[in-house]
Amino acid sequence: MSARHWFYLPELEDAGVHTVLQGSQASHAIRARRLRPGDPVVVFDGAGGTASGLISEIVQRPLQVHLQLEDFRVLPVPGYRIHLLSALPKGERQATMLDMATQLGMTDFTALACDRSVSQAQDRARARWQRLLIEACKQSHRPRLPTLHPPLTVDSWAAQVSAGDAVVLLGDAHGAPPAQLFLSQLQEGTMFCLLVGPEGGFTPRECDLLDTVAPLGVSLGRGVLRIETAAVAMVALAASLAPGYPE
Ligand code: SAM
Repeated sequence: MSARHWFYLPELEDAGVHTVLQGSQASHAIRARRLRPGDPVVVFDGAGGTASGLISEIVQRPLQVHLQLEDFRVLPVPGYRIHLLSALPKGERQATMLDMATQLGMTDFTALACDRSVSQAQDRARARWQRLLIEACKQSHRPRLPTLHPPLTVDSWAAQVSAGDAVVLLGDAHGAPPAQLFLSQLQEGTMFCLLVGPEGGFTPRECDLLDTVAPLGVSLGRGVLRIETAAVAMVALAASLAPGYPE
């Protein structure tokens, strides 16, 4: 694995050979990573574009990290999507879930508003979540930021998806063991939709709605997992079975 640290530069494609990191990215490079002139880095734009290069100069006030870049390239779009649709856990556990799911290859996230949801998605959390996704991509060297979709109820989601569109996996302690389900479901261009319920589980009404999409119930063991544990394990399972794994 490359030892180069990754930094986020959304305007990378237009940046040219000589470019500058500022603000939180510069601070991360110098104060947290303690990088110096001559150190190698990778910059990415969150849309699949990456470039490697070297730090050419550090300016202190305001903090700027000057980079000499080479070989800008856009990595191919993966042949699959992993869309996590999960009820939100409480407080900081939301961040844990999004961070870990992104590291493992989640490509899309929707907060499910369920009948028994305890936590609801807040508009003001969106900017924080976006920053968190950037940090998780930097950490895991993933050049594409996951897409954050607006929250949905189970009703709206079930009304807009049809069974043939996606492999729909429903986290269910009493479902089938993953190894018995997945391999026959895989196809190029696969969209995985991973459904995880709230603290109290899906209501019978929601289960009836979900049944119309014929999800595959997947058990991650008979124990009752926290929302974020089930969500992260489901993403890891789907990613490990997606075409081209590991990317
Ligand atoms: N009492 C609730 C129930 O029985 O459904 C527990 C809900 S659990 C805290 C939240 C969600 O995590 C569940 O709705 C389910 O989607 C998922 N989950 C929990 N344990 C699981 C397991 N062992 N395997 C797969 N998914 C699980």
